[in-house]
Amino acid sequence: MSKTAIITGGASGLGQTTAFYLAEEGVNVSVVDISEDSGNETVEKLKEKGVDAIFIKADVSKVEDVKNYVDKTLEHFGSIDYFFNNAGISGSGKKFLETDIQEIDQIVGINLLGALYGLRYVGEAMLKNGGGSIVNTASSAGVIGQASVVTYGATKHGIVGMTKSLVAEYAKDGLRVNAIAPGPIQTPMVKKFFEDNPDMKESAEAGIPQKRLGQPEDVAELVTFLLTKADYINGETVRIDGGFTNTK
Ligand code: NAD
Repeated sequence: MSKTAIITGGASGLGQTTAFYLAEEGVNVSVVDISEDSGNETVEKLKEKGVDAIFIKADVSKVEDVKNYVDKTLEHFGSIDYFFNNAGISGSGKKFLETDIQEIDQIVGINLLGALYGLRYVGEAMLKNGGGSIVNTASSAGVIGQASVVTYGATKHGIVGMTKSLVAEYAKDGLRVNAIAPGPIQTPMVKKFFEDNPDMKESAEAGIPQKRLGQPEDVAELVTFLLTKADYINGETVRIDGGFTNTK
């Protein structure tokens, strides 16, 4: 029987490319995002690849929306086998003491609470079905300290912590939970940022031992492996950054 994945932030970047990679493996996908147009376009492309896919509009920071994306997926597909808990925002990049409280609340709401709510309800559905596999999106800023990302870094270190602790509680029941820690990856968001700031692109590339930014495909391949194959990897945060954080 076909497997089913939920991908939050599935309408763009890392989530969308991973959806395409999972479709190549015959996995059906619930694309969860706030962006309706790109979500529906992603679903059309997934269907062209021969799998079933639905778009569910949700703001992951709202618990009712999270319950709804879980319920709608179960209604349509019957089970949830894989969860790419990925939606997130980077924030303005302002220094912490210049950041307003509204921005702190928003980043924490989406990146940290949104990820926890997803784990709470998807995890429950998976356990009722005998288990499942989850990948949470952390970041380089979740494994090292960096300037201009204090709140973002706090949420991404939180992702690493929730990943390990969930495994301590539920690995015995059949949950596999891992995280990824990408360095700068050329998603539409990052591409636009570097087009506007070409000198920052040069300095980012210079700081990476492999001397190139990551591509969404690099990450999609890793996430697909962790979700569908890596049967004895659990609680791990895999860095995917061309050697960046390991040489800091
Ligand atoms: P992206 O902007 O291309 O995609 C993110 C998607 O999440 C978008 O489709 C957006 O509409 C959706 N989204 C935003 N807020 C949402 C909300 N409240 N509810 C539901 N959906 C929401 O960005 P990306 O680069 O693919 O980022 C995906 C994840 O990867 C994020 O968690 C980000 O922090 C993380 N990350 C990205 C990089 C990078 O360099 N691109 C590096 C490390 C970590």
